[in-house]
Amino acid sequence: MRMILFGPPGAGKGTQAGRLLERHPELAHLSTGDMLRSAVAEGTALGRQADVFMKAGDLVPDTLVVGLVMERLEKPDCRDGFMLDGFPRTVPQAEALDRALREAGIALDHVVVIEVPDELIVERITGRRMDPETGAIYHVKFSPPPEEAAGRVVQRKDDTVEAVTARLAKYHSETTPVLPHYEAQGLVRKIDGVGPPHEVALRIERAL
Ligand code: AMP
Repeated sequence: MRMILFGPPGAGKGTQAGRLLERHPELAHLSTGDMLRSAVAEGTALGRQADVFMKAGDLVPDTLVVGLVMERLEKPDCRDGFMLDGFPRTVPQAEALDRALREAGIALDHVVVIEVPDELIVERITGRRMDPETGAIYHVKFSPPPEEAAGRVVQRKDDTVEAVTARLAKYHSETTPVLPHYEAQGLVRKIDGVGPPHEVALRIERAL
């Protein structure tokens, strides 16, 4: 299976990606957000360039992100299927992906769009915390971390109200225009992202 996980920041893409991987362990998980955060943490040239955009809640320029994804898609673990998470986020990124898949002779199966109203997103994101040791995602109110992890959870630098507002605006102006492209190919599966994660996971599984 080759799929894209699509949706606004805070829609639950990371959480649902984890659940999807439990059920479909053959899939390679390609999260551009995670890849970029690793590059920033490692202090690579790409990471240093990306950091400025990410902190401000802006999109990282297409040329940087496309190169990163194309390199990753060539790795052997992508041969049995992949899940793109957070990519493509602009029309030029979607076009670059199309070209690469066409050249490789492979096709996408699903574009899963997790829908959550804007009003819920700020509360979801500003309460989000991550366990740096396990990668598990929590929420201070909706899904608090267990006692042993509570002392070490961290907040992402771009999970502030200001950055979230900027990221949501970018989602509406730059990212949603990608959808008609996939709708025309009959690939879009719209999922109601409101509700407990296990229910959203069930809706996704039914749609696949
Ligand atoms: P995410 O973890 O998916 O919310 O991504 C975090 C941040 O990384 C975004 O706010 C962007 O600054 C950057 N980013 C991730 N994926 C992309 C992408 N496909 N295109 C441009 N910027 C991206």
